[in-house]
Formats: sequence, C-alpha cells, structure tokens
Amino acid sequence: MLPSEDRHAGKASRQLLVVGQGAAGLAAALAAAETARRHGLPVEVTLVEKAPEESAGGNTLWSPSYMRLDAPDRIAPEFEDDMRRASNGRGDELYFHALANNATATVGWLAAHGLEFCSPGYYLSAGPKRIQPVGGGCALVSALLRAARRHGVVVQYGRAAQRLVVENGRVNGLVVASGGAMETILADAVILATGGFQANRDMMHKHFGPGGQNMRLLAPRARHNTGDGIRMAIEHGARISGDWNGMHAEPVDPRGENPAAVVLVYPYGIVVDQNGRRFFDEGGGLVHETWEWFARTVHFETPGARACAILDSRLFDIAGFERAIRSEVPPHRAETLGELARLIGLDPSRFTETVASYNAAATGDPSRFDATRCDGLAASRALHPPKSNWARPIAKPPFLAYPLVGAIAYTFGGLATNAKAEVLGNDGPLPGLFAAGEITGHFYGTAPNAVSVLRALVFGRIAGVEAISYLQRGQSHA
Ligand SMILES: Cc1cc2nc3c(=O)[nH]c(=O)nc-3n(C[C@H](O)[C@H](O)[C@H](O)COP(=O)(O)OP(=O)(O)OC[C@H]3O[C@@H](n4cnc5c(N)ncnc54)[C@H](O)[C@@H]3O)c2cc1C
Repeated sequence: MLPSEDRHAGKASRQLLVVGQGAAGLAAALAAAETARRHGLPVEVTLVEKAPEESAGGNTLWSPSYMRLDAPDRIAPEFEDDMRRASNGRGDELYFHALANNATATVGWLAAHGLEFCSPGYYLSAGPKRIQPVGGGCALVSALLRAARRHGVVVQYGRAAQRLVVENGRVNGLVVASGGAMETILADAVILATGGFQANRDMMHKHFGPGGQNMRLLAPRARHNTGDGIRMAIEHGARISGDWNGMHAEPVDPRGENPAAVVLVYPYGIVVDQNGRRFFDEGGGLVHETWEWFARTVHFETPGARACAILDSRLFDIAGFERAIRSEVPPHRAETLGELARLIGLDPSRFTETVASYNAAATGDPSRFDATRCDGLAASRALHPPKSNWARPIAKPPFLAYPLVGAIAYTFGGLATNAKAEVLGNDGPLPGLFAAGEITGHFYGTAPNAVSVLRALVFGRIAGVEAISYLQRGQSHA
C-alpha cells in the first residue's frame, strides 16, 4: 500500500484527515488517495467517523440518491438556471457552475468504481429527469468505502472530531474524542464532511425557533450530524453561507418503523389538522415543490404538530402510487367518513363538513386528473385554502387516512466554500481546510431538487484532489 511503499522509499508521508463517512467524505478520501498515488506523493489518508461502524453512513446511507442529471453522461442545459431559481438568485454562481461542470465526470468516476446507474420514475411526477445509483445510497457507501480501502484509506470509527488544531494560520490537525478520551491527530490538511446540524437540538432551536429542537430526523443515522464541523471551522474564522432558516423536510407516517417512512400522496387528496380543518394548498405544485413547506407547516404551525392526508379508493387507480409511500403501515380505512374520523381521533361532524365543502368546490372535469404533472384541475375559487391541482371529490369508499408529521432531512446553513472546496475565511481560503456536502451552505429558500448527494460527491471529489494539490505545493516548498 502507498504509505508503507513510501516509507520504504525513505520519504516522509504527509497526513490527510477526512472527517465523516457519508457521500462527501468517502468521495474526498478516495479521490485524495487516487490522486496522491497518481502523483507519486506519499500521503496517508485517514477517515475518522463519529458513529460506530455498524451505524455509520450518515444521511447518505438512507438516501435513494436521485441525482438531477438527464443521463449519466448528460446534464440538463437549464441546470444552472434551475439552481438560480431555487435560491432566488442568492446562490453562488461559481459554485453551481463548478457543480454542473463536474457532474458527469463524477458520475463516470463512480461508474469506474463499479456503480451502475438507472433512470427510475421520481415518485409519481413525470419530470425533470433524474438518475439513481442502482441500490441507492447504500450501494454508494459500500462501493466508495471498498474502493477507498483498496487505495489504502484507513477508516476509524467511533471517533468524533471536536476541534481543529491550527498553527501559524494553517490547519495542522484535529482533536478527536474516542471512548471518553481526547486525542490530537496531527495532519497537514483536513477535509470536513460532517453533514448539517439537524441533530443538534440547541442549534435547531436557535435557528428555527420553538419546536425546532423536537423535529424528527428523516434518517435515523443522521443523529450524529450535530454541526460539529461547522462549529469547528467557524471557531477558526470560517465564513458562513446558505440559509440558516432553511431546511429540507418531508412528511412521514409517525406509525412507520421504516426509516424515512415518507407519504407523498397528499397532493391527490386533502390534508386536515387535528381540528379536522384544511390548512394548505395540497395541490400547490408537484410533490417535490411543496413537501418542504408542507412538512414545516405541519411541524411548526399545526396543532399537535400532526396532520392527516385524506384520500379515497381512487388512490389505488394511480399508476405506481406505491412508489410515493414508504410507510410499511397501511392507511386507516373506513367505509364512511364518520367512521374514518373516529379511527383517526377527529370530531366526525367537523371532519365531514370539511370534506363536504371541499367536495362541493371540486367541480372540475375529473377526466383531466393526471398525477404525473400539474394538471390544472383546480377547486373553485370559493375554497379556502385553495386546491390548485388534482382536485377530485373524495367520494369513493373505502376512505383512507395517513397520519403525517414533518421530518427534517438536512439543514441549509453551513460553511462558505469556493469552487475548489476550500473553506473561506474573511481574507480568502483557510490554508489546509476543505469541506464538502451538507456541512457547506449554498442552499437558500428551497433545496434544489435531487442535488444534495450530487454536490456531496462532486465537491467531495474536488476536495480530495485539491487537498493533495495543497500538500504537493507544501512539499515543494519544504
Ligand atoms: C431519506 C432521505 C432521502 C434523501 N434523498 C435524496 C435524494 O434522492 N437525492 C439527493 O440529492 N439527496 C437526498 N437526500 C439528502 C442527501 O442524502 C444528503 O444531503 C447527503 O447524502 C449528505 O451527504 P454528506 O456526506 O454531506 O452527509 P452524511 O451522509 O450525513 O455524512 C456525514 C457523516 O459525518 C459523520 N459525522 C458527523 N459529525 C462528525 C464528527 N464530529 N466527527 C466524525 N464524523 C462525524 C456522520 O456520522 C456521518 O456519517 C436524502 C436524505 C434523506 C435522509
């Protein structure tokens, strides 16, 4: 392996530490090890991960990992415009340009490491196109981990990065906590890939207000994503970026034991709160255009932080409806609306009144119904809140109810980085410090759809390559 060969050659190895074993950290570690080998540079790459081995993998492991590409070798021409639109023009254009420029090459690199890609349907909506690694995030983690180990990367589990060591303005190592003890690991450069701060109750409360601290995690393994890397870098002068009041959230069935038990069929029915009242335009857009605000509204603004999606048996006629439901628990089911209300603990008369007034407003031609696109089948203007698409009466028993709560996938606020994945301070890059993935900011307003894994991989890989180039420059000056 590379480090020992180099010791034999009598050269002193340089040390690179990567923190976090999700998509970003693994891509960074592998790219660094490959690049060092290609340049004949003696570098020992060590990846430290806070979780024990059996529960490592962060958000990436649970993610289906859809990526916003037309095909593995083709990105949509409007990709960068879409990024601009998602962030209301607040995103860093150079960052998203680098993302677009490196996306297909990164997918090609993953394919060279054995990952296959497919183009599955995205829940129920027809477009835009996405690709997915066969086997999702789980396959991604396994393939990258295998390749990284083959390239000599040493992975240490159960080691939580606590502080950066900085000397004369250059990052010089890391203090890690392991089994109750603290240890300093010296390193010539550090790549942070520790995810967002979704599992840090204090930070969630600070940035999202009351209730933020109780928000359920969409992926249980993200419980280690407590913003450690963000805090550590800020302590040494890193600038921040992204929307600190922004998060990606989705509605899940609280009865489900499945991780990420999302229920994404609410646009085709109505949603009621615990008082049996509607509170949201369920048909305001395709599900990936409304899920964030819907999940946030349920969590932060709805009594008991709970709601119910109400549908009728025509749900089962929607082709592929199962793709939009990851809860293993069947919906509550009843032959009458009154009976359904009792099953879900709502006042039957108020609930039936809500459904009746919705049905009275759902006067459009039901033959226009098309679950795959915004079909324009709106309820009449008298309805408040409105229902802008898919407004068919709820009339065909059995009637169905899915309980829903809002769950957070990741936060948007994080570190400012440039197109080389260098962490930026007020006077430019902080020497020896790189970051990629959720830990970096860059998202504003709403998450650009199917981009989080892609950017973790693209900038993880860039961070690995750039860190080696940084070490190489240091070597030539030594
Ligand atoms: C259910 C679900 C579905 C999703 N679907 C998609 C999708 O289809 N497409 C998409 O683009 N995105 C999707 N996302 C989001 C996406 O998966 C993540 O944003 C992305 O995988 C993040 O990768 P990451 O490497 O930055 O973080 P993670 O994968 O979360 O990895 C961070 C790692 O850092 C470790 N860590 C944290 N703190 C420390 C510390 N102090 N020391 C050492 N290690 C530490 C954590 O344990 C973790 O292993 C989804 C998310 C979820 C939960």
